[in-house]
Amino acid sequence: MNICVVGTGYVGLVTGAVFADLGNDVVCVDKVRGKIDSLKAGKMPIYEPGLEEMVVRNVDDGRLTFTTDLPAAVRQSDVVFIAVGTPPRESGETDLSHVEAVAAEIGKTMDRYKVIVNKSTVPVGTGELVREVITRHQARPIEFDVVSNPEFLREGSAIEDTLRPDRIVIGASNQGAAMKLVELYAPLERPMIITDLPSAEVIKYASNAFLAAKISFINAIANVCESAGADVTQVMKGMGMDGRIGGAFLQAGLGYGGSCFPKDVDSLIHTAGRFGYDFKLLKAVVDINRERSGRLVEVIRKVLGPLEVMTVAVLGLAFKPNTDDMREAKSIDVVHQLTAAGATVRAYDPVAAENARTLLPDCVVYAASPYEAAQDADAVVLITEWNEFKYLNLERLRGVLRRRIIFDGRNVWEPERMRRLGFEYYSIGRKPVVPA
Ligand code: NAD
Repeated sequence: MNICVVGTGYVGLVTGAVFADLGNDVVCVDKVRGKIDSLKAGKMPIYEPGLEEMVVRNVDDGRLTFTTDLPAAVRQSDVVFIAVGTPPRESGETDLSHVEAVAAEIGKTMDRYKVIVNKSTVPVGTGELVREVITRHQARPIEFDVVSNPEFLREGSAIEDTLRPDRIVIGASNQGAAMKLVELYAPLERPMIITDLPSAEVIKYASNAFLAAKISFINAIANVCESAGADVTQVMKGMGMDGRIGGAFLQAGLGYGGSCFPKDVDSLIHTAGRFGYDFKLLKAVVDINRERSGRLVEVIRKVLGPLEVMTVAVLGLAFKPNTDDMREAKSIDVVHQLTAAGATVRAYDPVAAENARTLLPDCVVYAASPYEAAQDADAVVLITEWNEFKYLNLERLRGVLRRRIIFDGRNVWEPERMRRLGFEYYSIGRKPVVPA
């Protein structure tokens, strides 16, 4: 099948690479020339395990190409995926200007029947909007269908998630258009849900909002555990074993960040409001999430005392492990609060330091290793649970620190082990370890 994917970001590039790998002819389009030029040179604009190999293989085999020429790419394709960004506006409402701009271009360019697939996360009703924008920009009436095919990949395991999704959601207004996508996805042999367009659009937001709610729920339980002397990791285990609940996304920590959960939850609250429903439950999810970094910094202040004279080693900057994505990363909140209180921050992240530079205060010093960050520091603050940190040589870390104090924002280490190693150790929803 001839496919065009508009927007060569996390979703577009991974989708394009996987469809090419399945034997389709794919052209990936982006309006940022630098991105397309570097992709043509075999350089990935994002860090994603397995992506580079897949892209290079398919480019070499002639199935995957990159361009900034949207009209040419649309003309040569039967199916056009829209995978551009849908950032939030100040009000929480989703900014659909990129989607609308692409729809207008598609309308102007369309020369024969095509299936237009919305893969961007968009509020319910956007499929209709895309149909209307395309129709308005056509020079003469040409038939087309709009399909909603929301994406559920996670950054850090995007290739794996795209090859083996839990389900593929296809929302279409007629069977012919839906079958085009069924055909495209058939080689993956994964469960598919074929439904109407608005339901598909809602499935995406409802799923993300539910997962965000699970995270905020366990974080609220962590707050109770801290006061009650209970251990949230035990509580999580006990809850997660219940098949009706499940253990996924029941990890107490600094809360959710990234390019999806925060904006998608806000967007659903906004959409609900537009329909006259005050989604109080989700508003509480947002509030609980927002409070997390402040709570951690408060503990740091209490334990360390005035931060003006303190050096703090921050481990992990990306919004989650296995990605260099810094969008809505909790490190931004925590580091700004620490530096605003006068602390000297030395930070280390395996891959996100470069992206972090523009988002963190200029005074942050970037270290080449966790041990360099911790050298003579008064405390370590762990923000992102990279595997590298789970398997850190804690004896070595202890040896370089000025004071053996660790604040673990993701419950990466076992309190008992930290006690044996002689650390003063604070984590989330568990009793602190304070050496006698
Ligand atoms: P991104 O910002 O990484 O990439 C979007 C790309 O679209 C950018 O490269 C941008 O230059 C390009 N673009 C914007 N307007 C364009 C235009 N008019 N013509 C051509 N290119 C244009 O975004 P992303 O993370 O890939 O997300 C894309 C969509 O998928 C969003 O709606 C997002 O919510 C959703 N989504 C993202 C993830 C994720 O983990 N990142 C997961 C599921 C769904």
